[in-house]
Amino acid sequence: MTLPNSFIDEYIEEAIARGDTRVQTRFPPEPNGYLHVGHAKAICLNFGMAEKYGGECNLRFDDTNPSKEEQEYVDSIMEDVRWLGFEWKNVYYASDYFDDLYECAEKLIQKGLAYVCELTAEEVRATRGTLTEPGKNSPYRDRPWEESLQMFRDMRDGKYPDGKYTLRAKIDMASPNVNMRDPVIYRILRATHHRTQDKWCIYPMYDYAHPISDTIEGVTQSLCTLEFEDHRPLYDWCLEKLDFPKPSRQIEFARLGLTRTIMSKRYLKKLVDEGLVSGWDDPRMPTLCGLRRRGYSPEALRLFVEKIGIAKSNSVVDAALLEHCARETLKSAPRMMAVLRPLKVTITNYPEGQEEFLSVPMNQDFPEQGERKVRFSRELFIERDDFMETPPPKFFRLAPGREARLKGAYIIKCEDFIKNESGEVTELLCTYDPDTRSGMPGSERKVKATLHFVDAASSVPAAVRLYDYLLIPETEDGPKDFAERMNPNSIETLESRVEAALGDAKPGERFQFLRQGYFCADKDSEPGNLVFNEIVGLKDTYAKLVKG
Ligand code: ATP
Ligand code: MG
Repeated sequence: MTLPNSFIDEYIEEAIARGDTRVQTRFPPEPNGYLHVGHAKAICLNFGMAEKYGGECNLRFDDTNPSKEEQEYVDSIMEDVRWLGFEWKNVYYASDYFDDLYECAEKLIQKGLAYVCELTAEEVRATRGTLTEPGKNSPYRDRPWEESLQMFRDMRDGKYPDGKYTLRAKIDMASPNVNMRDPVIYRILRATHHRTQDKWCIYPMYDYAHPISDTIEGVTQSLCTLEFEDHRPLYDWCLEKLDFPKPSRQIEFARLGLTRTIMSKRYLKKLVDEGLVSGWDDPRMPTLCGLRRRGYSPEALRLFVEKIGIAKSNSVVDAALLEHCARETLKSAPRMMAVLRPLKVTITNYPEGQEEFLSVPMNQDFPEQGERKVRFSRELFIERDDFMETPPPKFFRLAPGREARLKGAYIIKCEDFIKNESGEVTELLCTYDPDTRSGMPGSERKVKATLHFVDAASSVPAAVRLYDYLLIPETEDGPKDFAERMNPNSIETLESRVEAALGDAKPGERFQFLRQGYFCADKDSEPGNLVFNEIVGLKDTYAKLVKG
């Protein structure tokens, strides 16, 4: 992919100019959930930068928080990164460095730069101060280092209960940066780690483990999101105090937000756990596996990352841009006919038992895709919305006495219709004009509307799922909390009829359904039990948005 130039290039080029020509990046997810499109940005950036400068990019699992991490997430993350089109040089785990991280902590203690603190989590919080007031020194801050060292070893050896003591970096309780006010760097926690099992009962904190892990691996540019900007002094502090000769450099970029969805693993997990979606790969989810199931291609996501650019200020991108990118990559999808909400049509002047097969191009714009046969006969289905009993002025489709062309077939005329007891129209009685077959001489007669249709006997039933956004729009005075913004109508499942050629659609295959949108055969779809997911509609609302 071609990443747009950005301030990150400037940093890298500066380093190269200084003689630090090697570029090594990493994508460092915590395996506590599935990846979402925000991660796609971070993945493209890390892998893209390494590619651009002939360097390497590794996958590193930041697994320092055993209570939330699982092998399932490790596996899914690998699958998603590969699906996006990237291959790492090595896979690393922060837990591979637990010994090193422990050694480093002892070193800090010996240098008088870390101490074992007996304050409870609450007391630590209460003495941290505020943005405007300095914090208070812990009474344990000046504990002799020998004593801290012994206590830290005892912590490691399981002599204290969970949460009893912490190891804190001794920096500056009056620092204007709250992150520098003696942050906790180790805590006692008995939780089985997905890789080290029960070997450890103390675990390093992220802010401490991250710079050291980066540097051990030889990462040159450590790209992370903007909320870590205030943590950079701590990142640098750790590396400086531990005398690493080639410290990694942290560079922050803007976190991606998308309208009308949730971009946080923690919240997405809540939706899954509470059954508000069918799973991590529910096609409404902004997860990579959800988007994949929905029908998004890796190309669409990479294009999206190229288009949003790399900025240094956070912004929320309109979901319409993501959809625009999906459309851009779906132009060659076969254009098929599917009647989402079927209304039966009987062509009264078409002989019973007669049939014909019309040749219809798979996609007019890609003639190399060839043609398929579409059956036409006396009984058909059209879209319910394409008929109105009493049409308003600008409705040009079927209505009593009106004509419309059926795509690739004939002009038909609505002569009459049948209603059921509740007043619903259940069937149209139409005639066709045999001289108007598409592509035949004499077929040039024009009518205002061309409708898609399927033949009743040969078409196949299919469940078609239409989607709306997960969240209702955010408004000035409306609820801000995700839980209260859940869109109750984010999915609608229709009993549709699709043309015969779609009968053996394979999971993951993408199509345009004429006049309806782009659709993808669901992973659970199979012949006889077809399921299609709407990827995106045909109308590009993004183009409109840009024009203003
Ligand atoms: P979440 O809050 O969804 O769990 P996270 O930042 O905690 O996100 P990590 O697993 O730590 O998730 O993220 C791995 C990498 O992806 C980090 O470098 C992080 O900065 C980046 N990342 C996560 N979310 C986004 C986002 N919305 N936009 C860009 N990068 C992101
Ligand atoms: Mg996280």
